[in-house]
Amino acid sequence: MKTFIVGLTAGILVLASVGCGVPASKAGSGTAAPVAGKQYACPMGCATAPSPGNCPKCGMEMVEKK
Ligand SMILES: [Zn+2]
Repeated sequence: MKTFIVGLTAGILVLASVGCGVPASKAGSGTAAPVAGKQYACPMGCATAPSPGNCPKCGMEMVEKK
């Protein structure tokens, strides 16, 4: 019975650490969701987009237009 409880506790700890790790890694990756009222443009001026990301033509990171 004692072994069962120790195993269960270890399982819960593993699940808790995995559960905490997922949102942190997701936030770090940076999702490219469209931002209302904002425009992003390539620094080279070859493309514009409604969401941040990389230029489809030259691959540079799009910067927010002001
Ligand atoms: Zn470009």
